[in-house]
Amino acid sequence: MSKWIYFFEEGRSKDKHLLGGKGANLAEMSHLGLPVPAGFTITTQSCIHYLEEPDFFTSHLQEEILKAVSELELKTGRSFMNKEGLPLLVSVRSGAEVSMPGMMDTILNLGLNDERVKDLAELTNRHFAYDCYRRLLQMFADVVYGLAKERFDEQLDQAQKENGKPVQDFSQLEQEALVESYKKVYQSCRKSFPQDPADQLFAAVKAVFASWNNPRAKIYRQLNAISDKLGTAVNVQMMVFGNSDEESGTGVVFTRNPAKGQKELFGEFLLNAQGEDVVAGIRTPEPIQALAQHLPKAYQDFKDYAQILERHYRDMQDIEFTIERGQLFILQTREGKRTAQAALQIALDLVEEGLISQEEALLRINPKLVDQLIHPVFEPESLESAQPIAQGLPASPGAAWGKLVFTAQDAKRYHEEGQKVILVRQETSPEDIEGMIVSQAIVTSHGGMTSHAAVVARGMGTCCVAGCSDLSIKEEEKIVHYGKKSLKEGDIISVDGSSGKIYLGALPTSLIEKNENLEQVLLWADQHAQLEVRANAETIPDLRTAIKFSAKGIGLARTEHMFFGKARILEMRRLILADQEADRKEALVKLLTFQAEDFYQMFKEVGDRPLVIRLLDPPLHEFLPKEDVEIEEVAQELGKSPSLIRERIKQLVETNPMLGHRGCRLGISQPAIYQMQVEAVISSAIRLQQKGLAIKPEIMIPLIAEKKELDYLRALLEDHISHIFKKYSAQAFPYEIGTMIELPRACLIADQLAQAADFFSFGTNDLTQMTYGFSRDDIGKFINHYKNKEIISFDPFQTLDKEGVGELMRLAVEKARRIKPQLAIGVCGEVGGDPASISFLEEIGVDYVSCSPYRIPAARLAVAQASLLKKLEQERHQA
Ligand code: ADP
Ligand code: MG
Ligand code: MG
Repeated sequence: MSKWIYFFEEGRSKDKHLLGGKGANLAEMSHLGLPVPAGFTITTQSCIHYLEEPDFFTSHLQEEILKAVSELELKTGRSFMNKEGLPLLVSVRSGAEVSMPGMMDTILNLGLNDERVKDLAELTNRHFAYDCYRRLLQMFADVVYGLAKERFDEQLDQAQKENGKPVQDFSQLEQEALVESYKKVYQSCRKSFPQDPADQLFAAVKAVFASWNNPRAKIYRQLNAISDKLGTAVNVQMMVFGNSDEESGTGVVFTRNPAKGQKELFGEFLLNAQGEDVVAGIRTPEPIQALAQHLPKAYQDFKDYAQILERHYRDMQDIEFTIERGQLFILQTREGKRTAQAALQIALDLVEEGLISQEEALLRINPKLVDQLIHPVFEPESLESAQPIAQGLPASPGAAWGKLVFTAQDAKRYHEEGQKVILVRQETSPEDIEGMIVSQAIVTSHGGMTSHAAVVARGMGTCCVAGCSDLSIKEEEKIVHYGKKSLKEGDIISVDGSSGKIYLGALPTSLIEKNENLEQVLLWADQHAQLEVRANAETIPDLRTAIKFSAKGIGLARTEHMFFGKARILEMRRLILADQEADRKEALVKLLTFQAEDFYQMFKEVGDRPLVIRLLDPPLHEFLPKEDVEIEEVAQELGKSPSLIRERIKQLVETNPMLGHRGCRLGISQPAIYQMQVEAVISSAIRLQQKGLAIKPEIMIPLIAEKKELDYLRALLEDHISHIFKKYSAQAFPYEIGTMIELPRACLIADQLAQAADFFSFGTNDLTQMTYGFSRDDIGKFINHYKNKEIISFDPFQTLDKEGVGELMRLAVEKARRIKPQLAIGVCGEVGGDPASISFLEEIGVDYVSCSPYRIPAARLAVAQASLLKKLEQERHQA
């Protein structure tokens, strides 16, 4: 028979899956001998069963709960069901495996009713007893029936006014009348408050189970990637009363500063108060240090227990306590949530204090947090000359620019087209989440520092300005007014989440000054890492960023962007539209000049680090104009007729461009473009060679599916390169020609390709597209259906699909290494920067991952974590 209920003595902190975090830690603290009021935990499994089949409650749980309550009566010497003796009141507290602060419900003082409140009043004092009862009535109504708390507060205010005195001076009759008025609130909604304590308990437990699925809990789980299947445990615990007198109180304390990480108690308390009074904000709590004056003994005890807990858990704790008549009780402990900055500081301090090892510190820091430490700021020079157009609250730090959009749908649409967007709304709501995720920054005209936009943005590490009332936002009309001017969808603005200022146009960004703690941690990380981290970068600013973050090289420099820019794209268009050889040659010469200069600068920037340059990848039609106006313009500039251009566009149109005339297929059908690119690469390397810089160019050919494609292109390029050495009268030097592995067929014939390639680089974006047959640009249209219906639990373009794409990669590595054991193999798709994918990449034996520059610090940490976890796994095997 399954066990649905555990007393605190029966569990340990490792039982979080079954007992929830709160329950497991209450158990652990009881075990440690800390003063924890007695109680028991109804398991998460019970919750899951109940939510699936409500009858489970009567058939399995009810009886068990009653038994546990009798045992609790024995343990505490108080009575819950019977009238004799001091009444046993309990709290009914939610608590899931993963802590979700404030997301689910709790009821205090359960067990009181019209009669027992009188008994309690006689045994203690009247004000206290009625205070407890009123709190119960109010919380029960809120949690069980969803009645607004304010409706009860109104009754209290009115009674105090009518009686002309504060509630603590009410007579017995006045207290009873007040309770009656609370019950009227129930009646007005056709509800009643159960007088039988057992009925109260059953209703409360069911309501806490159900709170697992309340909207805010669901959204929290979505945001934090917590499974909906875990369920919440319910803790039933004897009440201790912080509202007994002035020698009582309650508080919440972090053992270290959760914002910056300093080693100091950080928290607040209230005297003569219960539970949620601290957060409710009716009375202003005092800083915990002040407790030393009020209740020195309790304060000292608290400090001692805080230290015991921190040492026991070897991490910063977030502790809830209550003091009843001078005696301290600990009601909860958990790992404290902290900012990225504090996470680093605390991890480093704990190493120094000898509580954890370097390895543990590395394993504890979530690589995603690292991303938050390196958000960009606007370059100071550019800020000097920029005039802000509006000022709001600096809700989440960072700096970003993008095209203004007014709805989450538009944000997604622009994002899918590869555009940067800033979501501007009066305020945001949970329905906007998907749009917020893809936005560079979020701006609202309403709401404060704890508004939905602000909280969510901070959670995501996205820059946010909230409550910017200088802006008058018309979402329907897609227009925003500021002063006498206005902006519309698609206009570019810059947002500074650290100052709250908004600017017109795109201001250049750079990184915040160096973070010494981060550097320290990443230096440790590098010592443990087996995989190398390189960057996907091609522009000079991106290359600089990559190097600043200690990228070991550039795993992917795309050359597409070299064909954009006004002057360049004109030449590219001249080339594509040429009907005479002379035109074609002229365009190629111009493009060669541009690209040679680009490569020269890139090589110079990167120095002796490897730089893998990928030859042109996209299909040619991407370079042609689309709109009529643009077609006319281009026609004029190139001296051609618009109809000719339209004709050529028609020829180039492809039914399925993703599978179309692109990558090496272009190199084969139009060798001149690849030859030009290779000449640009080699000639710039020659120039640098002559200046004494040894450059070893690595040229990468995309979209290879056949060994003969590679053979053909390799021969073509090698031949051309030897001409180039002659043409520039230069001494030949080594270079490499490698290939991307981004088609399933390439994986399957990786042994053949290894014969013709000097290196491999997996392009996991295309490989995922081609393996799944999902287009990366369109997956957004259905991925949520897949997630909701539990067909796929993650986006395979963000996190590697190990079973499918991953298996192809594993096969390719094995086959290739059989031919060339030393072949360098990298991964340059989006998943190369994803911590969840990195362990797998290490396992199959790739040499490096390559990701966008800002993801490098997180990737360096993730790579170290992968190695450390592998080492731990091996040690476990040996043991
Ligand atoms: P949350 O998960 O929202 O923090 P809790 O279950 O921790 O909810 O309950 C909130 C507060 O209620 C606690 O911090 C504590 O002050 C009070 N509380 C809970 N159980 C008890 C108890 N047995 N005795 C006294 N106060 C309690
Ligand atoms: Mg709590
Ligand atoms: Mg590709």
